[in-house]
Amino acid sequence: MTLRFFSILLIGSLCWINSFAQDIKLTPYEKSGGKSTPRYAETMAYCRQLATFSPLVKMESIGKSAQGRDIQLLIIDKNRNFTPEAVHRSGNVVLMIQACIHAGEPDGKDAMQLLLRDMLVKGIHKELLDHVTLLFIPIFNTDGHERFGPYNRINQNGPTEMGWRTTAQNLNLNRDYLKADAPEMQAWLKNLNKWNPDFFIDTHVTDGADYQYKITYSLELGGNMESGLTDWTRDYYEKGILKLLDNDTVPAFPYVQFRNWHDPRSGLYLTPSPPMLSTGYFAVRNRPALLIETHMLKAYPIRVAATYKTIQHTMELLNKDHQRFLQVVKKADDYTASDDFRKTPYPVKFKTSYKDSVMTSFKGVEYEGVKSDLTGGEWFVYHPEKPLTMQIPYFTKAEPVAMVQLPAAYIIPVEWSEIIKRIQLHGLKYIVLDKPASFTANTYRFSSVKFRPVSFEGRFIAQFGLDTLTTKHEYEAGSIIVPTNQPRARIAAYLLEPLADGSLASWGFFNTVMEQKEYTESYVMERMAREMLSKDTLLKQEFEQKRATDKRFANDPEAIINWFYSKTPYWDHQLNLYPVGRLMSMPAKK
Ligand SMILES: [Zn+2]
Repeated sequence: MTLRFFSILLIGSLCWINSFAQDIKLTPYEKSGGKSTPRYAETMAYCRQLATFSPLVKMESIGKSAQGRDIQLLIIDKNRNFTPEAVHRSGNVVLMIQACIHAGEPDGKDAMQLLLRDMLVKGIHKELLDHVTLLFIPIFNTDGHERFGPYNRINQNGPTEMGWRTTAQNLNLNRDYLKADAPEMQAWLKNLNKWNPDFFIDTHVTDGADYQYKITYSLELGGNMESGLTDWTRDYYEKGILKLLDNDTVPAFPYVQFRNWHDPRSGLYLTPSPPMLSTGYFAVRNRPALLIETHMLKAYPIRVAATYKTIQHTMELLNKDHQRFLQVVKKADDYTASDDFRKTPYPVKFKTSYKDSVMTSFKGVEYEGVKSDLTGGEWFVYHPEKPLTMQIPYFTKAEPVAMVQLPAAYIIPVEWSEIIKRIQLHGLKYIVLDKPASFTANTYRFSSVKFRPVSFEGRFIAQFGLDTLTTKHEYEAGSIIVPTNQPRARIAAYLLEPLADGSLASWGFFNTVMEQKEYTESYVMERMAREMLSKDTLLKQEFEQKRATDKRFANDPEAIINWFYSKTPYWDHQLNLYPVGRLMSMPAKK
């Protein structure tokens, strides 16, 4: 290194230190005058500056995206506890906040950089860290974030450019919580199991209708979360946050759906989220989660400010009630691991109940339905300059449409390695068989199997009915037993009960068992069928009755041949047999 080069380097680094000291006071979003959001590199550089500046921050990677970008996590703790053990021991609430799962919706990223700067650099709201440890993921979908451009969100009012909704593999991470196909989600789940946070916030921007609210939100209050946690979330948290936001003149409303899309007057409804979505996933993990959906048509700075306020007030509420809240969380975990939980039928799928509604005040805008001379359909013309409070029917109740009685344990054969991998990813406890063993288990046979004709998240969704049966099966070494007396038993049920909303069976993980692999030739079966009919009068009756009552069957020669095949000993009895067993008592150690 020449002396001259060394001097340039020294001056350069002094300039950097100088600019760094000034830079940290303004977030990249502020430097743009609230117009733009920083790219991945600039976002992480600012986070790194915060971590260098403040001893209360630690920054670490939780894993990599499909394209190899680090997914960074910031841990912010007043006592400089940076391990899960130390934080949980300290009695702090662990609040995890995530931005840019949909990378075109960056409000949470910029709002959190402002809040962290305020707390750590300016000393504003420092008290929010008294009893709360923050985990912050600035960009979850890092690859999608770098598919950056001005045309990624046609319905959205700023920033000037933004990332893309899905990952580089075109997977929507907010459909992936349970099936965990994306490498990003797999890394995220490992981090989640490590920290096991107590409360979660997922930050988004809406699509859908126009109305006055800058911010809408979702909380799981419809029966998919343990009852004590549901009560705390509704009676303490929801009431509290609505009041605090109202005081700030940021009135908020639940992120509802409309019975007729775009048409609020048709009625509003809420349904519990399935665990493929963040709030639904946390609900079955016994943790409340808040989904923030700022309104896409409001200007970017308005949305960032509303997100900031919602997070700030959430932290205030968690600080104020931290002790009671942690007790409620513990109780939910203890109850889920108890015999009492397994004795009660557990709902694994819900639908909105339209039997009963309440009237609610909804801060909408004037609008009318117009017959389109362009498409022939109807479209809604909104008049945001004419705000209007409407009295609208609101359907808030849900009813379970599938219930299961949990077994003592599930048993998964070793060959179903992708299923075993999901059990590991969700941090469920399990026992591995070290030698082959035979078990009698309850299980299901799929019936009336159909596949959705359009691919969804790269998978062909299976729809089926179920018959129950008991089988004795030899399980090879490496097969696993997943006991349900554990705090995450609800997740086991959602993964492994085929009728559960978003079960692995419905996602197509077991499609191969629904495929017939051996067939009979007609010249063999025609002869054999005649012989069978001549020897078996009951079979003859059954055949004639089926032919008389099932027109489609009667007119389908292939189906008739296959029906006779199914009555021979050559038939594959593993066809449509669900390979996961339900053990009704824990097996004794062998
Ligand atoms: Zn979103």
